[in-house]
Amino acid sequence: MAIKEIQAKVLLSRVRQPDPWFGLRYNMNLYQGCQHRCIYCDSRSECYQVEHFDGEVLVKANAIELLQKELARKRVVGTIGLGSMNDPYMPLEAEVNLTGRALQVIARFGFPVHVITKSDLVLKDLDTLCEINRTYAAVSLTVTTADDTLAKKVEPGAPLVSQRLKAMQVLAAHGIHTGIVMMPVLPFVEDTEDNVAAIVRQAHKHGAAYIVPSFGVTLRDRQRAYYYDRLDESFPGLRQRYERAYGNQYYCPVPDADRLAKVFYELCSRYSIATRITPYQPDAAKQLSLF
Ligand code: SF4
Repeated sequence: MAIKEIQAKVLLSRVRQPDPWFGLRYNMNLYQGCQHRCIYCDSRSECYQVEHFDGEVLVKANAIELLQKELARKRVVGTIGLGSMNDPYMPLEAEVNLTGRALQVIARFGFPVHVITKSDLVLKDLDTLCEINRTYAAVSLTVTTADDTLAKKVEPGAPLVSQRLKAMQVLAAHGIHTGIVMMPVLPFVEDTEDNVAAIVRQAHKHGAAYIVPSFGVTLRDRQRAYYYDRLDESFPGLRQRYERAYGNQYYCPVPDADRLAKVFYELCSRYSIATRITPYQPDAAKQLSLF
C-alpha cells in the first residue's frame, strides 16, 4: 500500500448529539485509508469520498499542530473518538506514532478519549492512556469472531484476535475502561451461537467490562461490491445467499438475530459484562468533589 503525506485543513469534527454508542463529542481521523483491509469495511462507501481506500494510506502530516490549535479553542470538554474511518493502530503507526503523539496532546489538554482498534499496538501508548484516564479513557477492541483463522479471512491485515484479547487484558489490569465491539456479526459467516458464546467467554476471561453488539452488517455501493468479491474468493456461494436474502438493502441483519441476541444477553448477564459502554460523565467528577 502506498503511503503519502497530506496537509489537513481541520482535524476535530463535531459528533451529532447524543452519540448513543460511545458518548463521543468529537471525532478525529489522523490517517485516511487503512492497512487492516477488513472485507466488510464501511469506509469504502462512496459517501466518504475516500477514493483509494485499499490502495494508499494518507498521513495527515500537520495533525499534531492542528490538534493543539483546535483543542486550545474548545470551550466544551467532551470525549474525542479515534478509529471511526480507519484504525489508529494500523501497522504504519508503529513508525509514524501519529496516534501516540496526538494522545500526548490530548493528555495535556485534559480531554477524555475513546479509541476503537483491532490492534495490540495500542499498548505502546499505555502510559499516555493511563494519564488521560485521570479524566477518562476507554479502549474498545473490535472482535467479530473468536476464531483466529476465520478472522484472518475477514480482517486480513489486522492482528490475530488472540493478540487483541491479550491487549485488552493488559488495559483492564491498568484500570482503563475496556471491552469489545462485536460488530459486525457477518450473516452466514459469523452468526453462530458457538461464535457469539465464544466471544463472550473470551471477553470474560480477558477482563472486558462491556461488549457492544450488532447482529448484522451494513452494505452499500462499492463497499458491497468489494465485500462480495472477497466472499467469492474465500466463501464460494455466499454472495448468492446474500443477494437472495437482502437484495440491495442497506442493513443486512443475521437471519436469526433474536436467537443469537438471547444467547448473547444471557451469557453477558451470567458473567456480569455490560452491553453498553459507560461514557464519560462530565458531572460525575464535580459531584465527587462535593464529598
Ligand atoms: S480496521 Fe476498521 S477502518 Fe480499518 S479496514 Fe477494518 S473496519 Fe475498516
